[in-house]
Amino acid sequence: MRTGWWIAVAAAVLLTAAVLATAIAFPSVAATTCPGCYGLERIEPGLYAEPGLTPAQRRDVTQAVEQGRKQVHDFFGGRESSPDVLVCLSDDCYRRIGGGGERGIAVLNRAVMLSPRGVNPVIAAHELTHVELHARLGGAAVPHWFDEGLAVLIAGRDLP
Ligand SMILES: [Zn+2]
Repeated sequence: MRTGWWIAVAAAVLLTAAVLATAIAFPSVAATTCPGCYGLERIEPGLYAEPGLTPAQRRDVTQAVEQGRKQVHDFFGGRESSPDVLVCLSDDCYRRIGGGGERGIAVLNRAVMLSPRGVNPVIAAHELTHVELHARLGGAAVPHWFDEGLAVLIAGRDLP
């Protein structure tokens, strides 16, 4: 009984430490797991953005992501992935959720983050392609050039 209690306490402490370590070492992983915890607000299911956007900014964000999703859908003939998309329109916001100098990034092939420079259909489609491809591969590996090449092909142009 007593031993069991200590094991439970130790497990809880270790789990908390692991969660904290993840949040500190990999803020992007933590942010994509809990966008609200990082101050993002839900614009629609699966789409989170920095709060305080003007109606025009909101429309731009929604359209960029919608168009990106459509390009992936049209190319593959459907989508098997439905990653959350996190969008920042300020550098502060993007830094806070763990972003760097890139225009967009696929996080663990489960979510997509778009930086203030990546809020457009090209970058959205590029990153969404990475997630879709990996969902379809189901753990199988392809060369990096194939992954990137396909993303560039579907996005139409440009590298993030
Ligand atoms: Zn890429």
